[in-house]
Amino acid sequence: MFSQSLKPPVIETPVIETPVIETPVIETEYDDLMHHTINALHFARHGQTIEGEAPMSGFSRLLDGLPKDQGGSVIWRLQGRRDALGRLFLDVQADGTIVLECQRCLQALIWPLSVRNELRMLASRSEVEAMDAREAQGEADDEEYILASASLDAIDVVEDELILALPYVPRHEVCPDQVEPEPGTESRGPSPFAALGRFKKN
Ligand SMILES: [Zn+2]
Repeated sequence: MFSQSLKPPVIETPVIETPVIETPVIETEYDDLMHHTINALHFARHGQTIEGEAPMSGFSRLLDGLPKDQGGSVIWRLQGRRDALGRLFLDVQADGTIVLECQRCLQALIWPLSVRNELRMLASRSEVEAMDAREAQGEADDEEYILASASLDAIDVVEDELILALPYVPRHEVCPDQVEPEPGTESRGPSPFAALGRFKKN
């Protein structure tokens, strides 16, 4: 019998499966900015381009031993290219501002990093070894080369170039707590560049 009651009718609800929302693995924005994989040979053969902007703080290898408090970013671009001889290249551009530690006063030093380089893409490990051997013999051109991986991490390439662009002894031209020397009363020691000049002459 069916009677009305104050109790809400117990409705045999069919077990409605709550739709399982396939949560896509949402990479954080950060990860997106730091991961761009390219098929290097294909990329170069077809003259492709990839570019982006990544937070300086994401370049952990670059920042090894450097101040971790980095607010800047790196604007980067990779351009694939094939030259008239059929050789494949990756043109790397990167510009950013990094915080270094001044080696004179140990305070923060804002340093612009700018990279323009071309990397020859070699298709196989044996080609790389052959090139290494030529270089060891002093026969190779002064070109830089890397193994063209099918899953080359663009950011890794950019980071390698930025690391090479770091100054050896970063110093303020005039440290913040240093009074600018009067003209003609240069009190600083010889610059490292002067030392380099001496090397070159010998
Ligand atoms: Zn300084």
